[in-house]
Amino acid sequence: MLDLSRIEELRHADVPPGRHLIDGALVPASDGGEMEVISPLDGACLTSVARGTQADAEAAVTAARRAFDDGRWSDMAPAARKAVLLKWAALIEENALELAVLGVRDNGTEIGMALKAEPVSAAQTIRYYAESIDKLYGEIAPTAPGALGLVHREPAGVVGAIVPWNFPLMIGAWKLGPALAAGCCVVLKPAETASLTLLRIAELAMEAGLPAGVLNVVTGEGAVVGAAIAESMDVDVLVFTGSGATGRRLMEASARSNLKRVHLELGGKSPNIVFADAPDLAEAVKVSANGIFRNAGQVCVAGSRLLVERSIHDAFVTQLTEFVKGMKVGDPLDPATAAGAVNSLRQLEQNLGFVEEARAAGREIRIGGARILEETGGYFMEPMIVTGVDPSDRLAREEVFGPVLAVIPFDTEEEAVQIANGTNYGLAAAVWTTDLSRAHRMIRWVRAGVVHVNTYGGSDLTVPLGGVKQSGNGHDKSLHAFDKYLDLKTAWIKL
Ligand code: ADP
Repeated sequence: MLDLSRIEELRHADVPPGRHLIDGALVPASDGGEMEVISPLDGACLTSVARGTQADAEAAVTAARRAFDDGRWSDMAPAARKAVLLKWAALIEENALELAVLGVRDNGTEIGMALKAEPVSAAQTIRYYAESIDKLYGEIAPTAPGALGLVHREPAGVVGAIVPWNFPLMIGAWKLGPALAAGCCVVLKPAETASLTLLRIAELAMEAGLPAGVLNVVTGEGAVVGAAIAESMDVDVLVFTGSGATGRRLMEASARSNLKRVHLELGGKSPNIVFADAPDLAEAVKVSANGIFRNAGQVCVAGSRLLVERSIHDAFVTQLTEFVKGMKVGDPLDPATAAGAVNSLRQLEQNLGFVEEARAAGREIRIGGARILEETGGYFMEPMIVTGVDPSDRLAREEVFGPVLAVIPFDTEEEAVQIANGTNYGLAAAVWTTDLSRAHRMIRWVRAGVVHVNTYGGSDLTVPLGGVKQSGNGHDKSLHAFDKYLDLKTAWIKL
């Protein structure tokens, strides 16, 4: 059990300036540049991190390339690699509270969510992939007797991993766990506004005995460090979670450089579809609210479009509004807080832009939509419910990545499917119904990587997460994640 009474002491702990981890050493930017880390809790400077240069990114790739090519990690006995990663997971767990509070001060997620989704989940993920290292076998092909066909699974090489700011440890571990377990070497680029916990767990990886150069972390701007990783001729696989605009740039960079494989997770505009025969409307209200408003809506699978059958629309919205009134928004380090800070001023302004547009279009704002707690200096926004949204509105088509819920009524199952599938995204969805046949029809018809039934979110590590359409390609979580980091190689032997 974590001692939550320590949160107050950790809230004010000094945070040393962040340094890159390159080839096993903590180093400043090659030109000495630094970036202020602004805390979304109070708008104050928390510390600084190295403002990486192109040369820093290249040095990290060179270190990873060298580490991969000399086999210091991939040729280590599987059981030995497993032991290092298990030790790493244990160290992350030992430091869970420190990591969670540091992460909250850096990115604004409420501590209740951060404790579950950040260090603890990262440790579980790393342990899951560590455990699989000595349990994955190659194949012997069903050939005629004159030949032997062996199918080896080999590490894909140097992985560039570019990750976002909403859940840096959870999403970082979804990439690092399988990549390192596969025997790859990694250059990790955290988001500008959430680098600190990833730097810290990289140090813990060194402490656990991960050889130098196997994991490198370079902080700084996406357009500089991220772009250099994407353009590198020595990166074999690029994995990314973030915006569609950046995802496109990464694909272009791959095409311009060495055709590195690019796996993208690009968010969504996920439909949460409530039929009048939902088994428990009060539960649907609670879960739907949490499915969009936790972490201030900064969740890639957030159920940001609520599609409600018209016969229950008004009653459902009324109950939802009441529930949201009771959600505590504010100090992310208070364990009672349900929705913490918006990550940055830029993001807050972007959210408020959607609010203004909805207002100007005459949509009905049932609750929320304003910046609050401005006196703290932090970036907070009231959860917002908008009804009367037209499926053609920008609010119904584009990801806000903030605490904004667009509500759209529907009359029939067919109409629900049509609206649900009417965006360029296809990451997550949910269906609430007691009709088993309808649930299965909706699972088939709704185009999304995950369709929840009578719940929203909460799927564990054993199932893959990935998008269809413009939500991306490839999967995090589950053993399927290895497909990104292991190449098939055939040995064809004439007997
Ligand atoms: P957001 O707009 O939500 O911050 P981004 O896609 O810009 O989403 O950020 C996700 C990650 O992509 C971050 O680590 C960011 O630094 C990185 N990034 C941003 N721009 C680029 C780019 N041009 N090339 C590579 N990485 C980038």
